[in-house]
Amino acid sequence: MKYIYILYSDILKEGYIGSTSLNLKRRLCFHKNDNRRHYGLTCSNILNSSDFCIDKIFSFDEITRTELEKLESQFIKQYKNSFFMFNNKIYKIVNKHIPYASKRTLCTCGCNQELVHRTIRKHLKNNNKNKK
Ligand SMILES: [Zn+2]
Repeated sequence: MKYIYILYSDILKEGYIGSTSLNLKRRLCFHKNDNRRHYGLTCSNILNSSDFCIDKIFSFDEITRTELEKLESQFIKQYKNSFFMFNNKIYKIVNKHIPYASKRTLCTCGCNQELVHRTIRKHLKNNNKNKK
């Protein structure tokens, strides 16, 4: 199972969106044990709040890592700096960055695909082969 999850605090009325292929309890442990959580992390405020919680928004049975990243990016793009309603409560989404944005760029060949840098070269090479 893979998940898009929300880390949230009812006190702060803030939420943070992420994705994982770990079960959520384990994912939360990683968040809690992340030493950066005391300062710079986007979700630090939520993690430092006494009531923080993690819950799944979507779960997927069969989905590739790439598809999951894509969905997560779209979801965050839509809700960052905006409000998301979850369990009849409204949370301000604190995510600052679209994840993986730097990993992927729009291919220049006109195929309209967003590809990971290292696959673009291969993809362009294949295009050239097909043309011949
Ligand atoms: Zn292309």
